[in-house]
Amino acid sequence: MTPLSTGPDAGFCARCGSALASRPPTVCPACGYQLYVNARPTASLLVVDDAGRFLALRRAVDPMAGHWEVPGGFCDGFEHPRDAAVREGREELGVDVRVNDFIGMYVGTYEFQNERLPVLDCFFFASLDVAAIRLDPAEATEMTWFDLANPPKMAFSTMDAALVDAAKSLLSAK
Ligand SMILES: [Zn+2]
Repeated sequence: MTPLSTGPDAGFCARCGSALASRPPTVCPACGYQLYVNARPTASLLVVDDAGRFLALRRAVDPMAGHWEVPGGFCDGFEHPRDAAVREGREELGVDVRVNDFIGMYVGTYEFQNERLPVLDCFFFASLDVAAIRLDPAEATEMTWFDLANPPKMAFSTMDAALVDAAKSLLSAK
Protein backbone atom coordinates (compact mmCIF):
# COMPACT_ATOMS: atom_id res chain seq x y z
CA MET A 1 0.00 0.00 0.00
CA THR A 2 1.16 3.54 -0.76
CA PRO A 3 2.45 5.32 2.33
CA LEU A 4 -0.21 7.79 3.40
CA SER A 5 1.77 10.62 4.86
CA THR A 6 -0.40 13.61 4.06
CA GLY A 7 -4.03 14.52 4.64
CA PRO A 8 -6.12 15.66 7.54
CA ASP A 9 -4.09 13.70 10.07
CA ALA A 10 -0.68 14.56 8.58
CA GLY A 11 0.70 16.01 11.78
CA PHE A 12 0.75 19.66 10.64
CA CYS A 13 -1.60 22.49 11.47
CA ALA A 14 -3.99 23.18 8.58
CA ARG A 15 -4.01 26.91 9.46
CA CYS A 16 -0.37 27.81 10.15
CA GLY A 17 1.59 24.72 9.09
CA SER A 18 3.30 24.14 12.44
CA ALA A 19 4.06 20.62 13.56
CA LEU A 20 1.44 19.14 15.87
CA ALA A 21 2.33 17.36 19.10
CA SER A 22 -0.30 14.69 18.45
CA ARG A 23 -2.80 13.68 15.82
CA PRO A 24 -6.22 15.32 15.73
CA PRO A 25 -8.33 15.87 17.68
CA THR A 26 -5.74 18.27 19.02
CA VAL A 27 -4.89 21.93 19.37
CA CYS A 28 -2.04 23.54 17.42
CA PRO A 29 0.64 24.56 19.94
CA ALA A 30 1.66 27.52 17.75
CA CYS A 31 -1.64 29.21 16.80
CA GLY A 32 -4.29 27.55 18.98
CA TYR A 33 -6.32 26.23 16.04
CA GLN A 34 -8.42 23.21 17.01
CA LEU A 35 -8.03 20.36 14.56
CA TYR A 36 -10.48 17.51 13.99
CA VAL A 37 -10.76 14.76 11.41
CA ASN A 38 -14.37 14.26 10.37
CA ALA A 39 -15.93 11.93 7.85
CA ARG A 40 -16.85 13.65 4.58
CA PRO A 41 -20.41 13.00 3.41
CA THR A 42 -21.19 11.38 0.09
CA ALA A 43 -24.46 10.40 -1.58
CA SER A 44 -25.13 7.38 -3.77
CA LEU A 45 -28.07 6.04 -5.74
CA LEU A 46 -29.46 2.56 -5.81
CA VAL A 47 -31.69 2.04 -8.84
CA VAL A 48 -33.47 -1.32 -8.68
CA ASP A 49 -35.53 -2.68 -11.58
CA ASP A 50 -38.63 -4.92 -11.52
CA ALA A 51 -36.44 -8.02 -11.79
CA GLY A 52 -34.60 -7.14 -8.57
CA ARG A 53 -31.45 -6.03 -10.32
CA PHE A 54 -29.52 -2.85 -9.52
CA LEU A 55 -27.71 -0.45 -11.80
CA ALA A 56 -23.92 -0.56 -11.53
CA LEU A 57 -21.19 1.47 -13.20
CA ARG A 58 -17.58 0.55 -13.86
CA ARG A 59 -15.40 3.31 -12.41
CA ALA A 60 -13.30 5.21 -14.93
CA VAL A 61 -11.07 6.92 -12.38
CA ASP A 62 -9.08 6.17 -9.28
CA PRO A 63 -9.50 5.28 -6.54
CA MET A 64 -10.62 1.78 -7.50
CA ALA A 65 -10.76 2.46 -11.25
CA GLY A 66 -12.19 -0.57 -13.10
CA HIS A 67 -14.27 -1.69 -10.12
CA TRP A 68 -18.07 -1.67 -9.93
CA GLU A 69 -19.89 1.06 -8.08
CA VAL A 70 -23.32 2.58 -7.81
CA PRO A 71 -23.64 6.18 -9.02
CA GLY A 72 -22.76 8.85 -6.49
CA GLY A 73 -20.17 11.23 -5.19
CA PHE A 74 -19.12 13.75 -2.56
CA CYS A 75 -21.50 16.35 -1.23
CA ASP A 76 -20.40 19.82 -2.22
CA GLY A 77 -20.00 22.26 0.66
CA PHE A 78 -23.33 22.64 2.45
CA GLU A 79 -25.20 20.49 -0.07
CA HIS A 80 -27.72 18.06 1.43
CA PRO A 81 -27.00 14.41 0.54
CA ARG A 82 -30.39 14.16 -1.21
CA ASP A 83 -29.48 17.12 -3.42
CA ALA A 84 -26.03 15.65 -4.06
CA ALA A 85 -27.67 12.39 -5.13
CA VAL A 86 -29.79 14.24 -7.69
CA ARG A 87 -26.78 16.23 -8.97
CA GLU A 88 -24.55 13.17 -9.20
CA GLY A 89 -27.25 11.26 -11.05
CA ARG A 90 -27.50 14.03 -13.61
CA GLU A 91 -23.72 14.29 -13.98
CA GLU A 92 -22.92 10.58 -14.19
CA LEU A 93 -26.02 9.26 -15.96
CA GLY A 94 -27.26 12.33 -17.84
CA VAL A 95 -30.82 11.97 -16.52
CA ASP A 96 -33.08 13.48 -13.90
CA VAL A 97 -33.22 11.24 -10.87
CA ARG A 98 -36.03 10.90 -8.36
CA VAL A 99 -34.57 10.17 -4.95
CA ASN A 100 -36.75 7.83 -2.90
CA ASP A 101 -36.29 6.09 0.47
CA PHE A 102 -33.10 6.42 2.48
CA ILE A 103 -31.26 3.10 2.77
CA GLY A 104 -28.65 4.01 5.38
CA MET A 105 -25.29 5.63 6.03
CA TYR A 106 -21.98 3.89 6.48
CA VAL A 107 -18.53 5.05 7.56
CA GLY A 108 -15.86 4.07 5.09
CA THR A 109 -12.40 4.87 3.81
CA TYR A 110 -11.53 6.76 0.65
CA GLU A 111 -7.88 6.66 -0.44
CA PHE A 112 -7.00 9.39 -2.87
CA GLN A 113 -4.08 11.75 -3.52
CA ASN A 114 -2.00 9.95 -0.91
CA GLU A 115 -4.63 10.58 1.75
CA ARG A 116 -6.83 8.17 3.60
CA LEU A 117 -10.07 10.02 4.27
CA PRO A 118 -12.96 8.93 6.46
CA VAL A 119 -16.22 9.20 4.52
CA LEU A 120 -19.87 9.01 5.55
CA ASP A 121 -21.56 7.30 2.61
CA CYS A 122 -25.33 7.90 2.38
CA PHE A 123 -27.39 5.64 0.11
CA PHE A 124 -30.83 6.26 -1.35
CA PHE A 125 -33.19 4.26 -3.49
CA ALA A 126 -33.76 6.18 -6.71
CA SER A 127 -35.76 5.93 -9.90
CA LEU A 128 -35.04 7.30 -13.35
CA ASP A 129 -35.72 6.81 -17.04
CA VAL A 130 -33.27 4.02 -17.84
CA ALA A 131 -33.64 4.43 -21.61
CA ALA A 132 -32.46 8.05 -21.32
CA ILE A 133 -29.19 7.24 -19.56
CA ARG A 134 -26.12 8.75 -21.21
CA LEU A 135 -23.00 7.76 -19.30
CA ASP A 136 -20.32 10.35 -18.74
CA PRO A 137 -17.23 8.50 -20.04
CA ALA A 138 -15.06 10.54 -17.69
CA GLU A 139 -16.86 8.90 -14.77
CA ALA A 140 -17.81 5.42 -15.94
CA THR A 141 -16.71 3.15 -18.79
CA GLU A 142 -19.58 0.67 -18.63
CA MET A 143 -23.03 0.16 -17.16
CA THR A 144 -24.70 -3.09 -16.21
CA TRP A 145 -27.33 -4.66 -13.94
CA PHE A 146 -26.57 -7.11 -11.15
CA ASP A 147 -28.90 -9.23 -9.07
CA LEU A 148 -29.37 -7.38 -5.78
CA ALA A 149 -29.59 -10.74 -4.01
CA ASN A 150 -26.18 -11.75 -5.37
CA PRO A 151 -24.07 -8.63 -5.92
CA PRO A 152 -20.40 -8.67 -6.92
CA LYS A 153 -17.71 -7.20 -4.68
CA MET A 154 -18.09 -3.45 -5.10
CA ALA A 155 -15.40 -0.76 -5.21
CA PHE A 156 -16.09 0.25 -1.59
CA SER A 157 -17.10 -1.82 1.41
CA THR A 158 -19.83 0.71 2.29
CA MET A 159 -21.53 -0.20 -1.02
CA ASP A 160 -21.38 -3.89 -0.13
CA ALA A 161 -23.07 -3.12 3.19
CA ALA A 162 -25.70 -0.84 1.63
CA LEU A 163 -26.62 -3.48 -0.96
CA VAL A 164 -27.19 -6.04 1.79
CA ASP A 165 -29.42 -3.65 3.72
CA ALA A 166 -31.27 -2.58 0.54
CA ALA A 167 -32.00 -6.21 -0.34
CA LYS A 168 -33.32 -6.83 3.20
CA SER A 169 -35.50 -3.75 3.10
CA LEU A 170 -37.01 -4.64 -0.27
CA LEU A 171 -37.65 -8.19 0.90
CA SER A 172 -39.42 -7.01 4.05
CA ALA A 173 -41.53 -4.56 2.02
CA LYS A 174 -43.00 -7.41 -0.07
ZN1 LIG B 1 -1.45 26.37 13.85
